[in-house]
Amino acid sequence: MTTIHNLGFPRIGAKRELKFALESYWKGESSRDELKALGARLRQRHWENQAGLDLVPVGDFSFYDQVLDTSFMLGNLPERVQGFHGDPLDNYFRVARGRSAKGTEDHGTCCGGVAAGEMTKWFDTNYHYIVPEFTAETRFTLDASHLLEQLAEARAQGVKAKPVIIGPVTYLAIGKAKDNANKLDLLAHLLPVYAELLETLSREGVEWVQIDEPVLVTELDADWQQAFNTAYQHLKNTGVKLLVATYFGQLQESASLAANLPVAGLHVDAINDREGVPSLINLLPNDKVLSLGVINGRNIWKTDLTAVLDWVEPIARSLGDRLWIAPSCSLLHVPVDLETEQKLDGEVKSWLAFALQKLDELRVLGKALRDGRDAVKAELESNLAALTARRNSPRVNNPAVKAAVARVTAEMGKRKSVYATRAAKQSALLKLPVYPTTTIGSFPQTAEIRHARSEFRAGRLNEAGYQVAMRAEIERSVREQEKLGLDVLVHGEAERNDMVEYFGEQLDGYAFSQFGWVQSYGSRCVKPPILFGDISRPGAMTVEWITYAQSLTQKPMKGMLTGPVTILNWSFVRDDQPRSASCLQLALAIREEVLDLEKAGVHVIQIDEAALREGLPLRKAQWQSYLDWAIESFRITANGVSDETQIHTHMCYSEFNDIISSIADMDADVITIETSRSDMELLDAFENFQYPNEIGPGVYDIHSPNIPTERHIVDLMKKAAERVPAERLWVNPDCGLKTRQWAEVIPALSNMVAAAKTLRAEA
Ligand code: GLN
Ligand code: ZN
Repeated sequence: MTTIHNLGFPRIGAKRELKFALESYWKGESSRDELKALGARLRQRHWENQAGLDLVPVGDFSFYDQVLDTSFMLGNLPERVQGFHGDPLDNYFRVARGRSAKGTEDHGTCCGGVAAGEMTKWFDTNYHYIVPEFTAETRFTLDASHLLEQLAEARAQGVKAKPVIIGPVTYLAIGKAKDNANKLDLLAHLLPVYAELLETLSREGVEWVQIDEPVLVTELDADWQQAFNTAYQHLKNTGVKLLVATYFGQLQESASLAANLPVAGLHVDAINDREGVPSLINLLPNDKVLSLGVINGRNIWKTDLTAVLDWVEPIARSLGDRLWIAPSCSLLHVPVDLETEQKLDGEVKSWLAFALQKLDELRVLGKALRDGRDAVKAELESNLAALTARRNSPRVNNPAVKAAVARVTAEMGKRKSVYATRAAKQSALLKLPVYPTTTIGSFPQTAEIRHARSEFRAGRLNEAGYQVAMRAEIERSVREQEKLGLDVLVHGEAERNDMVEYFGEQLDGYAFSQFGWVQSYGSRCVKPPILFGDISRPGAMTVEWITYAQSLTQKPMKGMLTGPVTILNWSFVRDDQPRSASCLQLALAIREEVLDLEKAGVHVIQIDEAALREGLPLRKAQWQSYLDWAIESFRITANGVSDETQIHTHMCYSEFNDIISSIADMDADVITIETSRSDMELLDAFENFQYPNEIGPGVYDIHSPNIPTERHIVDLMKKAAERVPAERLWVNPDCGLKTRQWAEVIPALSNMVAAAKTLRAEA
């Protein structure tokens, strides 16, 4: 009989209860006991939600991050927080976010704020974990108390518990060696602690433990492959059965390694690696469990249950009890419950499944495999009906869009002239000084802006009133910029709640949820819009705002758009066509906006591609094919303009070493990037490549409330000028200013403008 199980459940709560409880605790408005009690209630509810599964994850709950939980369980605390006197939960928050709750810093200097742990993306998801810190001296000691507590809770509730932990090799691989120590040297110290943990769980009567090793789907060199063998040889006689779980990608050359680890079972992502499954089955020793992730844990579409059964039934016949099925990965990456959605368009809603609905799908599949399809006839029929409706819906398929895509030519992605020719024409038109100054788009989202928006959404402020309020904000930013003496102005993005949602709301083919929250890090959640159909642009989206802003000033006003790759990467994207096809549709829609802006007399247009880099596949071997279509989409968006129109793009990072030639292929006239913290060293990539167009390296760290001095900015720009010729440099902040306050922005930009003047005088 096929076992059904789950790898992990969203912990934030269907109504983001955990977020609000955390924030209230941090503000000192509720007690630690209240927070802990809420955690216990959420776990209890989530286990109830998973009733009927043969094995239910325990240990997937976290007050902040499961990787940080692992660091605490292994006794791997950064030195700066060792010797803390208070409650361990407060120390945990100190590593997570630099400080715990107000009022918990009773020990003055020893227990107050510290540098927060570095945060980075969990593989190719938008979930951020706290990076484990290692040195050559790092040693580990077990503290399994939290896991054991949760296990006891689960058992008291009658849950068929399967503890979930992060595997030792992945734990080392995703951490950072502070002193350039070889992380693999730590394996020998780590394994005894893992063995102790597993033995402890065995003594508790645990049968199965899920041990997550997603690093198996990345390219591993020989040392890391060997680490897998060493690790699992060491852990093979601890008394528990291990299910090594991989997800997010394909095993490829590691398939044999994974299949032959001395463990009781292997979970693979059969959404991403379906083609790899038949050969994996051949490699798998015949006493081993194979768990197939057949429901997409990363997306929000209903599963085609009949198609899954067509594929899985023969496997079930040959593997018998050795086959398990599950979602492809933890459901952490999808929202909790579709049923809470009240406003979502009914038709679109009928095509979707959030975490709870995915578990229902799993139960149906399990029943079909056990008792035959007839036992779930009604469920299969309604599933099929929904999928058929989706496939045939005119909302999904727009022949005009398909026709427009078919007409796309490579010519559309090419500027009319080379950069040098364009630059001369642009300079004649714009008459900018050397070291021109500009900003990245947004100005502070003030309380008044947020208030007007929420009143408008609640229907208490009408369209006209909202327009008046936003125009007032735009006017304010234009006036401030004029006073500051900036060269290329922006309208400030007051009307945008979010740089993707704003465009999604105006494009056909997009839907929005009310509660479709997904944890991004700690208490922070995002609500990705749902790209369900062919994308088209019913009308201009930004032209009125920008032309209004331009009407207020003689200075050039920069039109501000979000690029197709970023819109795509920050949405839940339809699964019935390749991502590249959706991206091209977005590109055509944004291209129309670019051309409308140009027609309206806007001569500088910025197209943000903040999320271009994060779309890179996990395996480097697949990077180029992603970059090919991503860059082409950008080019289609941007490059239909005349020579005189200056195209800017912006990216919120600057690790371009490995993709610099693709960045150059975008052929934007100006690229602005984040560099202030790196002391301009990140410009080396541009220097080495001899990047041909203009660059605005950020000189103002907008993540910090600190005001950069004129001297500091001048020094940074001089370093930049050592790497890029001064006539191709711009002076600007790292990113948009939306999260800052005017009181910080004005002195900072004033120093920035003064620095540009100093540089010009010295040039
Ligand atoms: N134009 C956007 C802004 O200034 C860019 C934001 C971003 O790069 N994340 O807010
Ligand atoms: Zn940015």
